[in-house]
Amino acid sequence: MRDVLLRLEGLLFLADPGTRVESVQDDGEVIRVGVRCRTAGARCPGCGSWSGRLHGSYLRFPTDLPVVAGRRVVLRLRVRRFTCEDVSCVRRTFVEQVAGLTRRYSQRTERMRSAPAEVGLALAGRAGARLADVFGARVGRNTVLRLVDALPEPQPQVPRVVGVDEYAMRKGRVYGTVLHWGDDPEGRGALFSGDIFMVVMDRRWVSFMYSIPNFIPERPRTIRRALALVEPFTFERIYGAFWGRVVTADGAAGVRRSAERYLRFALEDDS
Ligand SMILES: [Zn+2]
Repeated sequence: MRDVLLRLEGLLFLADPGTRVESVQDDGEVIRVGVRCRTAGARCPGCGSWSGRLHGSYLRFPTDLPVVAGRRVVLRLRVRRFTCEDVSCVRRTFVEQVAGLTRRYSQRTERMRSAPAEVGLALAGRAGARLADVFGARVGRNTVLRLVDALPEPQPQVPRVVGVDEYAMRKGRVYGTVLHWGDDPEGRGALFSGDIFMVVMDRRWVSFMYSIPNFIPERPRTIRRALALVEPFTFERIYGAFWGRVVTADGAAGVRRSAERYLRFALEDDS
């Protein structure tokens, strides 16, 4: 029996070595698992100090996902209340929270929250509720939406390399800058090319102008050099200088294809 308990512990609480499975009771439809914390104390959420002074304990029954096909697993979680030992703390007592299993004021375990929320993100309320029901997390569509709503905001990614799209003069030469975003959340890469690679009306293509206001095309050698410079970078999207001029897919290949087309028609310069 001890072996079974240890295995259950591993299956249920991999994320938290601080919990211990005390008992398993199988009554056919429902599997009841008794769980408690191993730690000698807990940290007060009010002041952060550690306390081992037990004030009392009670049982909680957070709903958990089924581990056996179609059978509900009910956790019987013994939660302890401790007395805060810091006399200046506003809390006299506090309840321990089991990482990954509970949070304050929630009837659901973290997994029971996150699974319908993930489904909800993909399918939205009604469809999300129906699918969640299939794998045994019985929730209503409003609950799915509420769980999605409660998900933490994704942290915006900070670009690692920043350039400025602006031409400038250096040692008498004009040059421009593009910005490459390599670690965008979708991992597809993006190029903010401004007017260096001009996204044209047909948004699969770009073009190359020395001067846009004067309609003076770019020199072939400059284009070849620009191609070599962006060659190491992967990017799907290209954001051009003007509103709505965005290549949404296959950007790097689009730039190459566009340059080949351009160079086929352009006259070679002599120097
Ligand atoms: Zn405290």
